[in-house]
Amino acid sequence: MKIDPLTRRLLSNSGQNGFISLMYHSVPAGNATPKWQWAVSFKQFCAQLTLLQDQGWTTVCAHQLSPDTIEQLPPKSVAITFDDGYADNFAAFEELARRNMCASWFIVCNDIGNKSSWIDVDAPSYPLLTTSQLQEMQSAGMEIGSHTLSHSRLTLCSKEQLESELCNSRAYLSDLLKQSITSFAYPYGLYNQNIRDSVAASGYNTAFTTRPGFKLVDNDFLQIRRISIMADDSLATFARKLAFADNEVSWLSFGRYTCERILNRLHLK
Ligand SMILES: [Zn+2]
Repeated sequence: MKIDPLTRRLLSNSGQNGFISLMYHSVPAGNATPKWQWAVSFKQFCAQLTLLQDQGWTTVCAHQLSPDTIEQLPPKSVAITFDDGYADNFAAFEELARRNMCASWFIVCNDIGNKSSWIDVDAPSYPLLTTSQLQEMQSAGMEIGSHTLSHSRLTLCSKEQLESELCNSRAYLSDLLKQSITSFAYPYGLYNQNIRDSVAASGYNTAFTTRPGFKLVDNDFLQIRRISIMADDSLATFARKLAFADNEVSWLSFGRYTCERILNRLHLK
């Protein structure tokens, strides 16, 4: 896969605006572009890992993103995250481990080892990782976090439901994996101030949103920004996502970015 020279140049200058986080879901075997827009083929995933390695990016786990550790992160730090815990992620885990890279998984507790039972308009029901797979992944240095009990929309939950989704999933995973669970990802990226505060009160130190950009929203580790990696992202698109920390990285965005840089240099902004 070729990357045009302009994107390559942008990429080589990237990583100077703080860490970025990437969001993956299903990683089906093979190289065909998946029908589900949120999935990334295994071949495509491997090419993306190779690009990260070639460009000198360092993978970090969710627990490394904290006020205490943030200063120690190298310039090109990337948190690779997987939502929902699809069974096909096990091969992705093995590939990451083979390359000495780490990642974080956000698991829907009620469906571990079964098919996903939550109903989404465009998401098929997929098999999910098993308990023993999660244990093996954690033993190999991967981080496991919570994505609630039932993948519910937290903005629609009662106070009791919200508490249960946050606290019981954390307790369940902590017990299952014999380790304190400190990271969380908001299902559908849905949250508000009250939900954010409940996540903090439930004992989580980090929580991942679906809002793109570098680092954090409002300098808050319970609002970590993430970039969505999609089925039809070319390697050049992936590279520009790293450079701009955005989901929308068409050449139109590049034009806007260039204009801003020129204006900044001319001190017109
Ligand atoms: Zn999810």
